Amino acid sequence: MYHHVKKLMYTVEVGESDPKFGKMLLEQFGGANGELAAAMQYSIQGFNCEDAARKDLLMDIGTEELSHLEVVGALIRLHLKPMKHEREAAEADPLVAIAGGGGVCLQDSMGNAWTADYLKITGDLAVDLRSNIAAEARAKIVYERLIAFTQDKGSQEALQFLMTREITHMRAFTAALESMEKPQFAVGIFKPTPGLVDQYFNGSTGVSQYGDGDFSGQWNRGNGLHTVEFERNGGESLDVRPYAPEPGTEVTSPLDSTPVGQWTNGAGEKQQRLHDQQKKHRMKEAAAAM
Ligand code: MN
Ligand code: MN
Repeated sequence: MYHHVKKLMYTVEVGESDPKFGKMLLEQFGGANGELAAAMQYSIQGFNCEDAARKDLLMDIGTEELSHLEVVGALIRLHLKPMKHEREAAEADPLVAIAGGGGVCLQDSMGNAWTADYLKITGDLAVDLRSNIAAEARAKIVYERLIAFTQDKGSQEALQFLMTREITHMRAFTAALESMEKPQFAVGIFKPTPGLVDQYFNGSTGVSQYGDGDFSGQWNRGNGLHTVEFERNGGESLDVRPYAPEPGTEVTSPLDSTPVGQWTNGAGEKQQRLHDQQKKHRMKEAAAAM
């Protein structure tokens, strides 16, 4: 159930309206990394989440993002205001001025309509949490860039508030992922091909006209990786020997989604057992608390 409270989460004040900046701010209203996208992504993930505890997290943050949409919308409206009556201001964004009457509309800073294609919802909690951590990072950097393009103190302060909350959310999503107690690179139930999974392929070789050659760093030897060279350069290349999919071999969490397809009745059994165990445990806890 949703309930609207007639109060902004953060009170917005603007010294001088800047219609061009208002247009830039639309990026966080109806853009790919904006507040509506965040609100919808987390809320719909929450609707799908089987775990009551992490569902609560997704609904908490999804709902806060809706409040952010309201805050950034209020800020945008203050900046767009002159568009309603000044020709020069209207020229900052004819679409907003003429089609939208100078109000906020669900589009990005270039007038592209908001689309559900922005959302990353897989139905796998660990995968969704990773998407959310990345989404928060994108939202943070967009706010930072917006702050850098305004001198208005009130706008800077409102954007600083919104930017900060994204880092708070990133911390919560990261803690939630860690609380699933899965190995860092375990996704799903199928084991990746041994050997091949450790091979970092040196796919960009040679020396550029500026003298840049190959670089090596943690990315090609950390986390159990080692570099392999392309066979045309005399290397061993990737190990492409066939390896049969082995479901049910990855370390899963009771909070992982149950597998789909032909594995639901086979390899999914282990995970179903984990789910059942956890459900029993939760019921026992609830009974004890009564
Ligand atoms: Mn937000
Ligand atoms: Mn956020």
